[in-house]
Amino acid sequence: MDQPAPLEPLDETWERALCIVAHPDDMEFGAAAAVARWTGQGKHVGYTMVTSGEAGIDGLHPDECRAVREAEQVESARIVGVEVVDFLRQPDGILEYGVPMRRLLTAEIRRHRPDIVITGNFRDTFGGPMLNQADHIAVGKAVLDAVRDSGNRWIFSEQLSGQGGELEPWGGVRAVWAAGSPQSAHAVDTTETFNVGVESLKAHAAYIEGLGWENWDPGEFLEGFGRATGQRLGVAFAAPFEVFPMGWGD
Ligand SMILES: [Zn+2]
Repeated sequence: MDQPAPLEPLDETWERALCIVAHPDDMEFGAAAAVARWTGQGKHVGYTMVTSGEAGIDGLHPDECRAVREAEQVESARIVGVEVVDFLRQPDGILEYGVPMRRLLTAEIRRHRPDIVITGNFRDTFGGPMLNQADHIAVGKAVLDAVRDSGNRWIFSEQLSGQGGELEPWGGVRAVWAAGSPQSAHAVDTTETFNVGVESLKAHAAYIEGLGWENWDPGEFLEGFGRATGQRLGVAFAAPFEVFPMGWGD
C-alpha cells in the first residue's frame, strides 16, 4: 500500500478565530484538541453553533433537548479554553444554504472580527463511503460566502452602523479552515492537548448516551483518527484541516 500523503503544518500566526459549526459536538469530534492548543498559546477562539442540536437525541423532545445540549456545549467549550459560545437557534436537521443563512453568519463574523474562520467538513463524504450530513454541508458553504459578504459594505448593509445596525464591515478573514475534511492537506499537532480534547467530547454525555452505541469510547474513537493524522504530520497526534485562502494575493 502507498504511504498516505504528508500534511503541512497549519499557519499559527493569527490572534483570533471563530468556529462556526452546525451542531453542538461538531467541534469535539476531532477539532477541539486543536482549539485547546491555540487557547493555550493565548489566542482567542469563539464558538458559534448554528443549531442547538435539539433533534439529536431520539428519546428527548427538542424543547427539552435544546437546553441540555446547549449546557453540554458551553461546558465542552470551557474545557478547551473557549469562553464565548453563541447559539443562533436555527432548526436542527433542516438547515438551508441560502441568503438568510449567509445573513446570520455575516453578522457573526462582523461581530467577532476573526483572522481565521473554522468550520466542519462540508464535502459530500468524510472520505470513503461515509456520507456527510446535510446541515454540515449547508453551513460550510454559507461560511465561505459569509466571509466574503462580511467585508462588503453593500451586502447586508442593514447590519452596519448608520444604517440601522451597530456593526462594521470586516474583511480581515485570511482563511477558512474545514476541520476533518477528507481533502485536508494541512494539520496541527495536538499531541499535548489530545486528552483535553477527549474531555471536551465526554462533556456531551447526554448526547453520547442518547446515541446508544454500546461500548463506544470517546478516547479510543479520537485516538484512531488522531494517530492516523499525526503519522502524516510526523507527530503522535494531529487534527486535519482543509485550507481555503480568502484574502486576495494569498
Ligand atoms: Zn453535526
